[in-house]
Amino acid sequence: MKRIGAHVSAAGGVENAPLNAREIGAKAFALFTKNQRQWKANPLTEDSINAFKKNCEETGFPPGLILPHDSYLINLGNPDAEGLKKSRDSFIDEMRRCEQLGLVMLNFHPGSGLGKLTEEETMERIAESVNITLDKTGGVIAVIENTAGQGNHVGYKFEHLAYMIDKIEDKSRAGVCLDTCHTFTAGYDLRTKEAYDKTMAEFDRIVGFKYLKGLHFNDSKPDLGSRVDRHAPIGKGVLGIEPFRFIVNDDRFDELPLILETPESELWPQEIERLYGLIEK
Ligand SMILES: [Zn+2]
Ligand SMILES: [Zn+2]
Repeated sequence: MKRIGAHVSAAGGVENAPLNAREIGAKAFALFTKNQRQWKANPLTEDSINAFKKNCEETGFPPGLILPHDSYLINLGNPDAEGLKKSRDSFIDEMRRCEQLGLVMLNFHPGSGLGKLTEEETMERIAESVNITLDKTGGVIAVIENTAGQGNHVGYKFEHLAYMIDKIEDKSRAGVCLDTCHTFTAGYDLRTKEAYDKTMAEFDRIVGFKYLKGLHFNDSKPDLGSRVDRHAPIGKGVLGIEPFRFIVNDDRFDELPLILETPESELWPQEIERLYGLIEK
């Protein structure tokens, strides 16, 4: 079964996220467990944790269908010692918040060497950051998101994802999330059945579907290979509707959170309905 949802708001408390997800007809969801644009966050209260778990249970969202996303400020490949420490501390804190909430995954953008490190050095640093974090925490899988490759961000090639996974000591806690917009603007076409099959076969050969923990469903404003990260509503970008038809009819994506991060959140109920409507019975 396909589990399509969106990255919903957790304003007013994480316990509101599952309610917001149900409201739009989602069968999976993503959330930030703290304000994504601030370093510091108050610890989760016992009440908030209990309410979150209760609401998830009542609305039918098991942990495997919830894909929390880390703060945009974190850069696990930061070349600067102080910046790196801040990022690592913050990432560990985010992992612990996920543990507290009974969640099993944390989705993150790998990071950037900010023009001071080679891609290989950046990836070494990111893998080291993940190893340190996994060592200090338990149970939560670090889910690396593929990137569009903007600026000096690594993770835009499937080989990058494989390289970082290879350096992560506990492979049982390593995973990946593919973003359809990032995949496309990084240079992997998805628009025809032939291109889609080729891209997915390449992903399977280089990374492996066993590491896939979720997808981000975004259409793209920029073109193939542009290395720019700009999401568009489903069917309103350069990708169009076909790639999503291929995915929702592909068994390899069953029981994975398929998460909309499209820009017009008021469209999410329609987008979810339309995506479900693409499934051929
Ligand atoms: Zn994404
Ligand atoms: Zn993006």
